[in-house]
Amino acid sequence: MLLPSEVKRAVRKCARNRCEYCQSQEPFSPTTFSIEHIIPRCEGSGDETENLALSCQVCNNRKFTATNARDPLTGDIVSLFNPRQNHWNDHFAWNEDFTILLGMTPSGRATIEKLHLNRISLINLRHVLYRTGIHPMKEDLYTRDTLTFTSRSEDEDR
Ligand SMILES: [Zn+2]
Repeated sequence: MLLPSEVKRAVRKCARNRCEYCQSQEPFSPTTFSIEHIIPRCEGSGDETENLALSCQVCNNRKFTATNARDPLTGDIVSLFNPRQNHWNDHFAWNEDFTILLGMTPSGRATIEKLHLNRISLINLRHVLYRTGIHPMKEDLYTRDTLTFTSRSEDEDR
């Protein structure tokens, strides 16, 4: 898959250089993040920005082509969190020291379970970054907006 570089830049900017699932910040990750298809191409989706999300390698590998997973609380098969259609804060919350993600909905719980969003390496990293004031990103404490793409002209005005 070769996406145009401007598309990759737009996805990274929209995601604020974070994995849109585990919330890891790419500058503090040992691996390069990749652009993933939220609905996989094998299900007929395309390369449109509404179907693209920034993901760390582990989340990308764990998700692979899945769009659904089992809610560990009810056992129901539910849709995974969709970063372009769902509000992150509706589905997830942090525990009090911002190290563990809590699922607030069936989709949130299923996504945490399927993608292993509370991996021990992530918990350790979140702990260190929280102690240094890097995690969570400040704007996350105040916004409930879905991350959406802005047009090039809007970008240039900033
Ligand atoms: Zn991730």
